Amino acid sequence: MTVGVGVASGNAPNVLRDRIAVVRAEVAAALRAADRSGDPVRIVAVTKAQPRSTVVAALAAGIDEIGENYVQEAQPKLAGLLGVRKHFVGHVQTNKAKAIAGTFDVVQSIDRLEAGLAIVAAARALGRTVSALVQVNVSPTERFGVAPAAAEPLAAQLREAGLDIDGVMAIGPRDAGRDGTLRAFEQAAKAFERIGGSTLSLGMSGDWREAIESGSTMLRLGTVLFGARA
Ligand SMILES: *Cc1c(COP(=O)(O)O)cnc(C)c1O
Repeated sequence: MTVGVGVASGNAPNVLRDRIAVVRAEVAAALRAADRSGDPVRIVAVTKAQPRSTVVAALAAGIDEIGENYVQEAQPKLAGLLGVRKHFVGHVQTNKAKAIAGTFDVVQSIDRLEAGLAIVAAARALGRTVSALVQVNVSPTERFGVAPAAAEPLAAQLREAGLDIDGVMAIGPRDAGRDGTLRAFEQAAKAFERIGGSTLSLGMSGDWREAIESGSTMLRLGTVLFGARA
């Protein structure tokens, strides 16, 4: 029998526990190499395209933050799961704001005023506390995100409107190499300095090392934890 990384049987809790331990050790080593040994870096496990059983296994294996891109996919998958912080990392459509604010604790992908206003209004209507990050576009291969220069004014307007903006999220460029990735992440880090907050959500499976070097406080990891998506 051949069992590839990413197939459901490859994501049993004991397998995930080992993989998570390896990733955490690599992250700790990268932090030391970057002279950031004491810094806490959180890992959000991105479970898009993974079944609920994998989410449950990840929680059993010690993951306590989950990220999803599509609210319709996430609602049944995350329903009733306790003790987990739920992050929305997909594009915010204003007509889905109520579903997003009702399902997630953190919306990482606020990239325009209307999106932030829709989320804050929906959270209020539901009596829920939702925090948010401003998604900054630092990559020509990325469709969404506010231009770096417009990030701080957007954060200010949304804070004025009552949204708890806790920092910045950015998606790195594809195929930009190490230097191109570092240059892009530097723009995100500078936007984070201007905006403030506690979270710089930077780094995915292919670029988390550069993200650590760039000051990331939160990695969003799918493939390195769960294998390739179908
Ligand atoms: C899919 C996704 C991730 C995880 O990607 P991997 O490369 O599998 O680690 C992280 N962030 C966002 C916004 C995503 O869409």
